[in-house]
Amino acid sequence: MSEDVFKKIVSHCKEYGFVFQSSEIYDGLSAVYDYGQMGVELKNNIKKYWWDSMVLLNENVVGIDSAIFMHPTIWKASGHVDAFNDPLIDNKDSKKRYRADVLIEEYMAKIDDKINKEVEKAAKKFGDSFDETMYRQTNPRVLENQKKRDEVHTRFAKALNDGNLDELRQIIIDCEIADPISGTRNWTDVRQFNLMFATEMGSTADGAMKVYLRPETAQGIFVNFLNVQKTGRMKIPFGIAQIGKAFRNEIVARQFIFRMREFEQMEMQFFVRPGEELGWFAKWKETRMKWHKSLGFGDNKYRFHDHDKLAHYANAATDIEFEMPFGFKEVEGIHSRTDFDLSSHEKFSGKKLQYFDPELNKSYTPYVIETSIGVDRMFLSTVSAAYAEEELEGGETRVVLKLPAALAPIKLAVLPLVKKDGLPEKAREIIDALKFDFKCQYDEKDSIGKRYRRQDAIGTPYCVTVDHQSLEDNTVTIRYRDTMQQERVAIGRLSDIIADKVSMKNLLKTIG
Ligand code: ATP
Repeated sequence: MSEDVFKKIVSHCKEYGFVFQSSEIYDGLSAVYDYGQMGVELKNNIKKYWWDSMVLLNENVVGIDSAIFMHPTIWKASGHVDAFNDPLIDNKDSKKRYRADVLIEEYMAKIDDKINKEVEKAAKKFGDSFDETMYRQTNPRVLENQKKRDEVHTRFAKALNDGNLDELRQIIIDCEIADPISGTRNWTDVRQFNLMFATEMGSTADGAMKVYLRPETAQGIFVNFLNVQKTGRMKIPFGIAQIGKAFRNEIVARQFIFRMREFEQMEMQFFVRPGEELGWFAKWKETRMKWHKSLGFGDNKYRFHDHDKLAHYANAATDIEFEMPFGFKEVEGIHSRTDFDLSSHEKFSGKKLQYFDPELNKSYTPYVIETSIGVDRMFLSTVSAAYAEEELEGGETRVVLKLPAALAPIKLAVLPLVKKDGLPEKAREIIDALKFDFKCQYDEKDSIGKRYRRQDAIGTPYCVTVDHQSLEDNTVTIRYRDTMQQERVAIGRLSDIIADKVSMKNLLKTIG
């Protein structure tokens, strides 16, 4: 897929009420978006699938909903006040701002692409006799590119770990990375930029307190660790899940809902015995990848990407990347956070945050595995994977969102063939019977073909057409979105046909 398709997806999202730019009539607010009538349904379904996969399928995972505002010392303890920075660099000609680390990562991704193209070409040429490993180890062009990439990678990882901003700039210069807009290499120095939004709480007369809009939901879980453990009588290992808004003053905000300044996270912190964390890390990696793949977009669209630079709190970290229209990108992070957060909150708050383990007969500070996924990135990957333009017989085309039925905003559309003869009333009767279980939409405007297209475009898996025969024998035509096949069925059977496919329960059963 290409940037071109990405543009189409962005305008499709707007045209069909999935995503609007925030404050559009005031020319918008950069990197802030609103979800429309279809978007909110899809988003809620994604959240429900995640929530249920955590708290329904795991007896030892419970949820909370903590406040966005928290005591400012929390962000001192978590390290965000001192270290939640991104390295930024400006191009002096275009005046555009970039993340220095992202420029270098994109450069390396381009070399990877080159290598992969070379390998693909050879695979085609040699057919069945092709030995990919051998080719990668011996082909001079591949080797040369691989060497170049490895060298940059080693320097990059070291610069990040040392926090060496001059070296980051030097890599950009040495790799001759140019600004995609101005095309020049006229770069400023690299500087650190803190991503937290601050505001004031209380009236200034009382001496207002500087508070932050949370940049992640995780800290709300850590500071409630003992509340939940004690009141819920939880035994280690156990997890706490939360869905909520997070805010980051991102430097570069040009990728639609991929990078927003206000976004939503679904996070789960899993508390384990010290020393057992890496086993749990492997387990949650596998569980989360299974969740993604269960949606049926194709296993080749996902990959793990281990971190070059471990955050100050982590002893293992990986991302689940999804192939977006603009390349493989992080959708979810899985981190082994050690006891960093709980220990740090103990230190800063002066309160004990330990767990007494009855089996070991001792107290300790639990270690933590975190799974953290962005709702909006998940939304974008879902829509990107589902978006298809299809050629139909007779030269027509259709745009269809092949959403997993359990996530589709509307489950079925009920369409009277004509606006008279009692057909609208019959259609309403069907909706009235089914509306308690499925989100239905009634549509009587335009030709039936146009109505099908509109439903395809929002991903409705079923369209039910009511015609004159329906009045006589209580049957309707049901049309399936992906195959466009139609069949005549009794109205009484509709509920069963639809329930099976759109059921969240059936989707959960594939992973549970
Ligand atoms: P990136 O490297 O892309 O900035 P990150 O590593 O800082 O992301 P985490 O802090 O691990 O991200 O956050 C967990 C998840 O939250 C990410 O995997 C992503 O899905 C989501 N997320 C983070 N920042 C944003 C953002 N600005 N807009 C939308 N989603 C985001």
